[in-house]
Amino acid sequence: MTIDCHCHAGKADGLTGPWDTDAPLDDYLVRAARAGIQQTVLFAAFHSDYAIANRSVARIVASRPERFHGFAFVHADRDRGRVRDLVRVAVERYGFVGIKAHRYDARISREICETARAWGLPVLYDPMGEVAIAELLAVEYPDVNFIFAHLGSFSDDWRAQKALIDPLTRYSNIYTDTSGVRRFDVLEEAVQRAGPHKVLFGSDGPWLHPGVELAKVLALGLSAEHQGWVLGGNLLRLFADRRTQPKPSPPVTTSRVNSPMEFRDPWSGEMPA
Ligand SMILES: [Zn+2]
Repeated sequence: MTIDCHCHAGKADGLTGPWDTDAPLDDYLVRAARAGIQQTVLFAAFHSDYAIANRSVARIVASRPERFHGFAFVHADRDRGRVRDLVRVAVERYGFVGIKAHRYDARISREICETARAWGLPVLYDPMGEVAIAELLAVEYPDVNFIFAHLGSFSDDWRAQKALIDPLTRYSNIYTDTSGVRRFDVLEEAVQRAGPHKVLFGSDGPWLHPGVELAKVLALGLSAEHQGWVLGGNLLRLFADRRTQPKPSPPVTTSRVNSPMEFRDPWSGEMPA
């Protein structure tokens, strides 16, 4: 079973680039079918209201439930205090199986991690190169699985990608996806050092071609068993933890706003990297 763990879907309400305007699936689905991709994880494009965006992704998932899995997109800052409600609706009403967050919106928060823990959901997080957070997430939330998108950097920051390989190797709950990774040697090193059980195939469709992204994984030349893990087995394993009822837990922490502008290293004054 080949499953693309990273694909955007639906109309968005921005107008600055494809990422916040529209993620149409027509061409993606033809390309994915030709490449032999059988299932796809869908989540919204950047949006000013993820309650609306998640609902429109839910309609797409419901149109072909055997083909799609949904992740709930949340904004750590703007959705502060309502992440738990957004995720509850996404799980109970839409049948979603994960959470997506992006540093472009705001840094990942305790509220997101605690909500993921309560429901047993994986968190797909794009840190935009700030991979040091993997150290904190891994230790603070050892029972939550985090998938770092793009080996930590869509913008091809090889320093960040190399730096992610270390926590990927050391922590059992830190994973990565292959989407948009261009430096093949770094991807190969990640699989060799961290192991094929820590890497998930993703395309970043519909903006990247799922067949091209898949070819990259096939080019790793893994054994049939290990390739099967990367192409879908690892993701299905992460889905196995999910609960139909949230685990009883104290109220989620909503105090810290990880807005990129206000959160600097207190000693150097620099943005954490
Ligand atoms: Zn993406």
